[in-house]
Amino acid sequence: MNLAADVIKGNRRALAKAITLVESTKREDRARAQALLAELMPKTGRAIRLGLSGAPGVGKSTFTESFGTYLTAQGLKVAVLAVDPSSARSGGSILGDKTRMEELARDPLAFIRPSPSGGTLGGVARRTREAMLVAEAAGYDVILVETVGVGQSETAVADMVDMFLLLLSPGGGDELQGIKRGIMELADLVIVNKADGDLEAAAKRAEAEYKAALHLMRPKSPHWQPTTLRVSALKRIGMDKVWAVVQKHQQALTMSGEIAARRADQARAWMWSEIKERLVEDFRSQNLERIAAVEAEVIAGRTSPGAAADQLLKLFEREN
Ligand code: GDP
Repeated sequence: MNLAADVIKGNRRALAKAITLVESTKREDRARAQALLAELMPKTGRAIRLGLSGAPGVGKSTFTESFGTYLTAQGLKVAVLAVDPSSARSGGSILGDKTRMEELARDPLAFIRPSPSGGTLGGVARRTREAMLVAEAAGYDVILVETVGVGQSETAVADMVDMFLLLLSPGGGDELQGIKRGIMELADLVIVNKADGDLEAAAKRAEAEYKAALHLMRPKSPHWQPTTLRVSALKRIGMDKVWAVVQKHQQALTMSGEIAARRADQARAWMWSEIKERLVEDFRSQNLERIAAVEAEVIAGRTSPGAAADQLLKLFEREN
């Protein structure tokens, strides 16, 4: 049996197995995972890579169910992945609540994978990036990478996708205060969810405010002005509009060559983050006792952090 060939054929079990392999933190699996990715590489790069973020409760799971099933109804294959470094600590993850994604979870054209658990944000992001490549090789047309709207993970996700969608609720101005400007700046499309029932008017006001806020920001790309939409994930309204904007974005950035350039930049940055992660991992796994001792000196204020780093790095250099 050849795992790569089965993944490329679109075999779901092979896909799940391949993702488990690339997610493994065991050293002995690393070489096998890299060999697998090398075989899959020629089949990657054809999907639309979307990031999705929003604060807990804004409706990410509900949106994923609605948007995902909208896409599969058009015959598109959709993979949903997650970057959630908090899931290891809290035990829950963004995609933990599958009850809001019942239909998508059963859909033969969809594949849902919760966040790999454990490790640093860098480690979790690395494994999600590789899972994304595996899903692309398996013929998925749209990859949706989700993250919770708190902290650093948005940047990590924005750095691995073509387009970043920010989901907000009709909280209006108060909410605008709470959203970090940095996260708004990442957005290529701001989606105001819950535009239904009593919330409809508030959603309209919120959208106008977000639109104004976006116009004040420096656009990420000369070929795309970030825009806004109102949807109801619950009532499944507006999914066609989201898809139309995604396609327009993809078209504008493909024609201008920006997708290719962006992906090339991302690949280079990814290589460097791999190197940094792994150097630190190797560094930490050697000289454990020495590191603990020097760290204690730093904590006690007897050695300066710089001098301590010099000492430990010298030791590391001698051994490698
Ligand atoms: P997540 O934490 O961002 O994944 O949010 P969920 O998808 O779990 O949704 C949180 C709550 O908001 C649930 O009670 C949903 O039913 C509700 N919700 C999600 N989308 C909508 C919507 O479009 N309209 C309304 N009225 N409620 C929604």
